[in-house]
Amino acid sequence: MPATDSLPRAADNDPPLRGGRARAVRLRTERFGSIVYVPERDHFYALDREHTIALSRLGTGRPVPAYDRDLVVAMASAGICRTDPPTPQRAFYGRSLLGSFAGGIPPVRKPMVVNCFATAQCPLRCGYCHADDLMASYREEERPEWLDEVIRVAAATPAMVGVVTGGEPLARPDNAERLLTALARDKAVVLDTSGVGDLRRLVPTLRRHDAHVRFSLDSAQASVNDRLRPIHRRSLPPGSGSFRAATDGIRLAVSEGLACSVQTVVTARNCDPAGLAELRDRLLSAGVRTWALHVVVPAGKAARNARGLLVGDDAVTTLTGLVAETAAQRLPIDIRVTSTHRAPNSTVLISARGELAIQQPEGGGKEIAPVPRIMARRSVLRHFRRFVDPGGHASRYLNGTLDLYPAAGPGVTAVLPAAAAV
Ligand code: SF4
Repeated sequence: MPATDSLPRAADNDPPLRGGRARAVRLRTERFGSIVYVPERDHFYALDREHTIALSRLGTGRPVPAYDRDLVVAMASAGICRTDPPTPQRAFYGRSLLGSFAGGIPPVRKPMVVNCFATAQCPLRCGYCHADDLMASYREEERPEWLDEVIRVAAATPAMVGVVTGGEPLARPDNAERLLTALARDKAVVLDTSGVGDLRRLVPTLRRHDAHVRFSLDSAQASVNDRLRPIHRRSLPPGSGSFRAATDGIRLAVSEGLACSVQTVVTARNCDPAGLAELRDRLLSAGVRTWALHVVVPAGKAARNARGLLVGDDAVTTLTGLVAETAAQRLPIDIRVTSTHRAPNSTVLISARGELAIQQPEGGGKEIAPVPRIMARRSVLRHFRRFVDPGGHASRYLNGTLDLYPAAGPGVTAVLPAAAAV
């Protein structure tokens, strides 16, 4: 049964439907169909061939043919296309697949996302910092010209989305602005931030490039969040904390009309269902419509000194339950759950010095590789195919962790409750 069987179907007497691709949506053709990225929701979807062809037929001004109508309504509900008359967007609670994918999450041959360091500086000292090994030894030597190398290697990386990260990008706002602008030449862009710094300065650049802003927030309780994400006291005035910075940042982004979401690292300290539900409800009241939950990865600082933070597949069970409960209540928030602890070598990073950096699978450090000037793209792809777990990479971004979602039986890959409009 294809995913779209769970969507509302068109009636015979429905008015003619017209449509086109939604604003700023990116599409990449794949053997199985295509992958699309919706910046407004920071959401990837894999489309089978049938959906891909239906999407390609939009935008001619002609009415959507009857045989495409259900597919187009499904894609409009997911934010991929727009229709006239309008189709409301709906929250998406399952694996991000539209159509039939008999083998589950499809493998990808090219990166979907590349995470680019704007700086190795960060005012926070999170106990689980995945990138700590790419910051500590780089901070002292960091030089402005390193960013040219980051931009060059990112341009050679055929990813659909470029994430401006670090370190904390707001610690070097000039770098963040330059990197956002450079990445936006051929990618959708995301700013990863704790909110600590002058986000307001970046608003015009973010708006110009339809960027998505992703805030890190680990708990609805300031005390829990600030213990997990302590601020280096030299960096900020007394009384401020990472909870306050993130919530102020979310408020600013929502009031400025910027697309934004929240990501939460799930550790032994914040993995209780009641606390996570409290955070979800707080995000809903703040106007956040996308939430990514990452099970802590034993990499970087968490690999060396976990201090009771690590959790395993028990956490996945808790998160799957949270998603099922959210879907049962039809709450208007997309939830993505990642299980990168199962395959730590699932992400692609570019260090502040412009090296390619890929986490080793078994608790080691990162594979670090300079990228040559000649045949740079070929070199990046060779590293991607050699060191990155392709299934883990696709699963991380296509919500593959939710394959045990109770409403999704074999072959059913997405569930969009009819009543939950985003
Ligand atoms: S904000 Fe990010 S980069 Fe900075 S310490 Fe925390 S996890 Fe690491």
